[in-house]
Amino acid sequence: MGLSGAANVKIHEYQGKQIFARYGVPIPKGYPAFTVDEAEANAKKLIEETRVPIVVVKAQIHAGGRGKGGGVKLAKSTEQARAVAQSILGMQLITHQTGPDGQKVRRLYVEQGLDIAREFYLGAVIDRDKRRIAFMASTEGGVEIEKVAEEMPEKILTIHIDPAVGLAAYQARKLAYGLGLQNYGKETVAKFTKTLHALHTLFVKEDCSLCEINPLIVTKTGDIVALDAKLNFDDNAEYRHPEWKDLADHDEEDPVELEAKAAGLSYVSLDGNIGCLVNGAGLAMATMDIIKHVGGDQGVAPANFLDVGGGANQEQVTKAFSMILRSPKVKAIFVNIFGGIMKCDVIASGVVAAAKGLGLSVPLVVRLEGTNVDLGRKILNDSGLAIQAASTMADGAAKIVAAVSASA
Ligand code: GDP
Ligand code: MN
Repeated sequence: MGLSGAANVKIHEYQGKQIFARYGVPIPKGYPAFTVDEAEANAKKLIEETRVPIVVVKAQIHAGGRGKGGGVKLAKSTEQARAVAQSILGMQLITHQTGPDGQKVRRLYVEQGLDIAREFYLGAVIDRDKRRIAFMASTEGGVEIEKVAEEMPEKILTIHIDPAVGLAAYQARKLAYGLGLQNYGKETVAKFTKTLHALHTLFVKEDCSLCEINPLIVTKTGDIVALDAKLNFDDNAEYRHPEWKDLADHDEEDPVELEAKAAGLSYVSLDGNIGCLVNGAGLAMATMDIIKHVGGDQGVAPANFLDVGGGANQEQVTKAFSMILRSPKVKAIFVNIFGGIMKCDVIASGVVAAAKGLGLSVPLVVRLEGTNVDLGRKILNDSGLAIQAASTMADGAAKIVAAVSASA
């Protein structure tokens, strides 16, 4: 769960395409592979099935931009497919979405090669301002859509779906003609609008937060095919999608976030230098704002947030605090708790247990307020730990910024 209380469940391209197929969104033939042998066998099978000796070997990681990074390669024989698979599998794939260290490739997807006439972009998101699903389409497919949005915003066509009506036929045609698909024939326009309807149904039924096809192509024979598939789900809907568990790939997830999740905590990793232990997403955001307000121009910002929520027990608090302590980015820790259901003495006991167990090598500022606050403060005072007590949030922010500045 993110700061706003919603987060995305991410899946691989090949998993997204399996879902596409169920809803009638056309995809190339393809098979996932976990080994080079499997990739070779898949290539052989595809070439036999399609009678065309061209396959595409694609790295499966939860990040886009794989093509540019060398994670998508064409092969013109079974042997070539093997060689290409050998070079991609296990590589550290760096793209604009992976961060500087890249992501290790552990899965491949081997797909039939298609003759591309033109690449388009097609995406769907939830537009929170308009409270509607928005579909976006562009003739500038195959490139980073963020760049298109910045440099040529007029090249992105958008429609908003009225939830009571659904995707209207005129809207689908508007996108089709906006992309110039009539130039490929009436059939192609019809194939596109059918695909759009399928995607809309998929987006709603599967509780998507994002669906991106970049590129959606027109083939030389006038067919519409999704060459790429990026699907994110809204994790607030997790309770009605038990199948998401099987789609998860823990190798692709932040190990600390996984550890937090397993402990029933919510963790968000950020780029700054202050570890924050808070309760509730609202307080997390307010804490972030006040730290940035007080210390932003001195380079002070949150490194992470551990949200212990409303009813964490001492064990969970200890776990949370020790996770913050272990992060090498953390130069100081700010505990900012408003104890309502959460009791201040439980927080204090957890903090003391973790700090004593692991050793506290960075400054610790604690602002506690609410239920059992006096008992909580007493536990902290009696602990013998070097803790700076803060009377208010603003006082706490000032103290934490001063502590980081002093240690720098
Ligand atoms: P991304 O770079 O992570 O977005 O990966 P994509 O799946 O979008 O692949 C990158 C690029 O590889 C696409 O934009 C296409 O130009 C190319 N590509 C992918 N599949 C095929 C294919 O079947 N045939 C051809 N000719 N090119 C392909
Ligand atoms: Mn793509």
